[in-house]
Amino acid sequence: MKSEYLLSGLMFCGVCGGKLTGRTQTSGKGYKTRYYTCSRRSAGHKEDCPKGYSVPATLVEEYVLGIIRQDLAQLQNDESLPLLVQQELEKLTGNRSEVAERLQRQLAKSDQELANLREHLLSLSAGAAKSLGLYERVQQATEDRERIECELAEASRDAVGVPDLDVLRARLASEFQRLDDAMALGTLEEKRELIACYVQTIKADPDQQMVHISLYPTLMSQIVAGTGFEPVTSGL
Ligand SMILES: [Zn+2]
Repeated sequence: MKSEYLLSGLMFCGVCGGKLTGRTQTSGKGYKTRYYTCSRRSAGHKEDCPKGYSVPATLVEEYVLGIIRQDLAQLQNDESLPLLVQQELEKLTGNRSEVAERLQRQLAKSDQELANLREHLLSLSAGAAKSLGLYERVQQATEDRERIECELAEASRDAVGVPDLDVLRARLASEFQRLDDAMALGTLEEKRELIACYVQTIKADPDQQMVHISLYPTLMSQIVAGTGFEPVTSGL
């Protein structure tokens, strides 16, 4: 069976910056162990990456999935989250209603202009109105009004209402459920996508025997977490 490496290409070498890729070692007794090793070093660039080391795969994969799971649980239990989302949505729809208000004012102005023109027309003879170009101005003002009316209808249609807190809570809960499912039962690709959403960088540091994990601060409270690993010297 082909081994699956969740973090292949997502984790980097702290020495040379190369990508870490998966490698399976088989012991004399046929016991298989999965590791990540530096792909630059494997490709023969030993001058860039003099220290041969490998990171135990299961340990670091479980650690990364563990902090994502932990953070999801924390977010999910955050009482203020639906409120925050609602406030952000209100900002968005607020902008839309400003557009609608501006168009409303334009429409009122256009109505006033048309009324003035009609009044002017009534006070003049047809010939005088024609020589002043009033018919063209009425025509133009009518077209402008129609255009504003169309834009206003469109702006009002786009201005969807903000869902209330209960609806938002339900939506967030189903989104968390989806993420939980992907973590537990997802394919390798689904898990990798999830990790890529959460994790900015994963960097192995053989000197400190640490894997540094930087998370996207918008989703995560903590920025750097680490896990100890015993570097396995190889290829010397
Ligand atoms: Zn390296």
